[in-house]
Amino acid sequence: MEAVKKIALVAHDSRKKDLIRWAKRHREQLAAHRLCSTGTTGALLEAALGLPIDKLKSGPLGGDQQLGARIACERLDAIVFLWDPLNTQAHDSDIKALLRIATLYNIPMACNMASADFLFSSPLISLPYNNEHRDFDAHQQARNEAIIEEYLKEEER
Ligand code: PGA
Repeated sequence: MEAVKKIALVAHDSRKKDLIRWAKRHREQLAAHRLCSTGTTGALLEAALGLPIDKLKSGPLGGDQQLGARIACERLDAIVFLWDPLNTQAHDSDIKALLRIATLYNIPMACNMASADFLFSSPLISLPYNNEHRDFDAHQQARNEAIIEEYLKEEER
C-alpha cells in the first residue's frame, strides 16, 4: 500500500453532516490522498471541501457494491463509512456486503467519528503499508484443487 492512499468516504443521510464536519477538520490530510465516494456523499464533500472526489453511483443505486468491487480488486486502501445504526436502509444487503468485504481484505475501516479520528492520527495513513493479509491466491488454489479432486472422484464412480 503506497504512501498516497486511495480512501473512500461514505455517509448515510443522517450522518452526512457529521462526515462533512469531520472531513473539514481533516481537509489538509485528505488533500494528500486520492478520494472516492458514493454519489451523493461525494457531491456534498466536493462542494464542502473543494477537493476532487471520484464519485461512484449513489449507495442505493449500487455505489456500495462498486466500492466492494474496488476492495476486491485491491483498488481501495481505507474507508470512512458513517453508516446509520438507527435506521434500516433500502440497500442493507449491499451495506452488509461492503462491511464484509472490507473486513475480509483487511481494509482499515472507520464507522464512526472517533474511529475516523484515530485512523487519521495514525502515522500509517501517510506511510507505505504492507497489507499482507489480502493475498488469497494460496486459499483459492487449495479450494480449486479440492473441488476438482472431488469432481474427478465422482466422475470415476
Ligand atoms: P450516497 O450513498 O452517498 O449516494 O447517499 C451512501 C450510501 O447509502 O451508502
